[in-house]
This record gives sequence, C-alpha cells and structure tokens, in this order.
Amino acid sequence: MKAPVIAIVIPCYNEQEALPITASTLLKLLDSMQSEGLIDPASYVMCSNDGSRDSTWQVITELHAADQRIKGISLAHNRGHQYALLAGLMEVKDHCDAAVSIDADLQDDPAAIREMVKAYLDGKEIVYGVRSNRDTDTWFKRNTAHAFYSFQKSMGLDTVYDHADYRLMSARALNLLSAYGESNLFLRGIIPQIGLDTAIVTYSRAARVAGESKYPLKKMLSFSIDGITSFSARPMRWIFTVGLVLLIIDLIVGGYVMYSHFFRETISGWASIMLSVWFLGSLILIAIGIVGEYIGKIFTEVKGRPRYALRDKLID
Ligand code: UDP
Ligand code: MG
Repeated sequence: MKAPVIAIVIPCYNEQEALPITASTLLKLLDSMQSEGLIDPASYVMCSNDGSRDSTWQVITELHAADQRIKGISLAHNRGHQYALLAGLMEVKDHCDAAVSIDADLQDDPAAIREMVKAYLDGKEIVYGVRSNRDTDTWFKRNTAHAFYSFQKSMGLDTVYDHADYRLMSARALNLLSAYGESNLFLRGIIPQIGLDTAIVTYSRAARVAGESKYPLKKMLSFSIDGITSFSARPMRWIFTVGLVLLIIDLIVGGYVMYSHFFRETISGWASIMLSVWFLGSLILIAIGIVGEYIGKIFTEVKGRPRYALRDKLID
C-alpha cells in the first residue's frame, strides 16, 4: 500500500493559547512519520474553528501563513464540538486517505496517531483511541464520565468505553458517515454503527496543554442526554414495563382492598376509589407505553439513517 495522505482534524473553540503548541507538536509528528515513510508528504492539519470569541481564527491564519500544511475552516457561529468536528471531517473527506480527529488541547496523546496509521496500513478503517487511564482528569470528571458511560449503556446506547472523539477514519468510512443526515449529532454513537473493520489503540490521557476545559458539567449532562435520546427508544419502553409492573402490584392491592372492604371497617367509597386509581393508573401507563412504541418507530424513520452500507462491489 502506498503511504496515505493523513488529515488531522481539530475542532477549536477559544483555543488561542493551546493552538500554537498543538500545531507545532502535530507538524513535528507529521515530519517524523513522513521521514519513516508511514505517510505521504501531502498530509496536513485541518483546524475547524467553532465560532471562537477569542483570536483563535487569527492564530490559525498565522499558522497557515507560516506552514501551508496547517489549513482551516471557520464556522459562522459556535455550533458545538460535534458539529465543528463533523464540518472538519466533511471538508477533508475527499482530500485524504484517512482522517484523524483530535482535540485542540492535546489531552489525547498525539503519539497514538502513529499506531492508528499503522492499524490503517494493516487494513483497519476505523481506529478508536481508548484511554488506558484518567489519572490526570479530576476525581469529579473521571467519576461523572464513567457514570455517564454506564448510564448510556443501560439506556441502550452502544459506544466504545473510554473513547472520546480521538479516532482515525478511512476516506470510505468518512463517506459512509456523510450519509447520516441527522441533525442531533452524537458521533460516538453513529460511528460504531457504520461497520467496517475496526481496531483500538490505547493511550494515557494527559492534562490540557493550555487554556481551560470547554465542557463543564452542564454541557456534559446535556451531551449525554442527547446521546441517549438520539439513539435509543428504550426510555419509552420502560413506561410500558412500569405499567405492567403496576398492574401486577394492582392485583395485590386489589386483594387487600377487597379484604378490608368485606372483613374490616372502611369508609364508604374508599374501596371503589382505591381500585379505580390503581387500575386506571397502570392502564394509562401501558397505553402511553404502546403509543411510545410507535413514536419510537417514527423516531428511527425520521432520522433517515442509511439502512445498509456497502463495503465492496464486483459488478463489471
Ligand atoms: N470545542 C468546540 N466547540 C465547543 C466546545 C469545545 O469545538 O463548543 C472543542 C475544543 O476546542 C476542544 C474539544 O472541543 O478541541 C474538546 O473540548 P475540551 O478539551 O474543552 O473538553 P474536555 O476535554 O474538557 O472534555
Ligand atoms: Mg480537553
């Protein structure tokens, strides 16, 4: 296989402090991989500016002037990490053999890119960067992140554990990704659905090189809820289950109410109200659950996701 053109895609939001360091680290890495013959000299870095309020775009422009291998696109306003990343990936998909996405703060060890490229040369088309530890994250960040993974899994969302958006994707994988037209973007959920041959590369996560985290708890929480509600109708199915469980409890309560009504002193009207409240309550939940099943179907239909993906063709 000929040495591939690699595009490194970086979403950048208010990263003026981190970007110069990140760019020079990545350029050095490209140089060394190129001298080893691993990648094509035309490989480059694509910075996707997510409507930054500081001078990030200015920094990107200066970096581009100094070295043409630093390229950039700039979103019209702050649209969020996932969209900035997707914009970068879609920009490079027809101009590279494979793209690696990495955060601007280099918390994800860039040395793993070499391993990812090697896996790509071995025929893998999606290579996930997975953290081997989170020692440098705060106790709070580490535990909330793990709680989110477990919660998402229990809600029926299939993601790669401890993998954020640090990954390599071949041009073919990027083209398959472009067929997903959904507007609630949760790349970590979509990409495992693409298929193709995958591999995992582990690395240890470092502290931010400069600047502050742009993912406070509030954003993490809404990101996690977005992930679940974009991929799973399971919460709606739970309504039905709760209704069924209540119906069973209803039988026990009903027995107790009847017993009290006939063999003990009760206020008149109590038994009939008790019976109808419990019975109607469970019936309503079951009915909502059934409606939920249909809404779940609508939800997958409107997303218009590709129904299958082709790996190869042999037709003429
Ligand atoms: N980011 C972005 N748009 C946003 C928030 C963040 O493009 O609205 C980028 C940010 O510049 C960085 C990456 O997403 O490259 C991850 O953000 P950060 O490192 O702040 O998150 P953390 O690692 O703390 O979860
Ligand atoms: Mg970070």
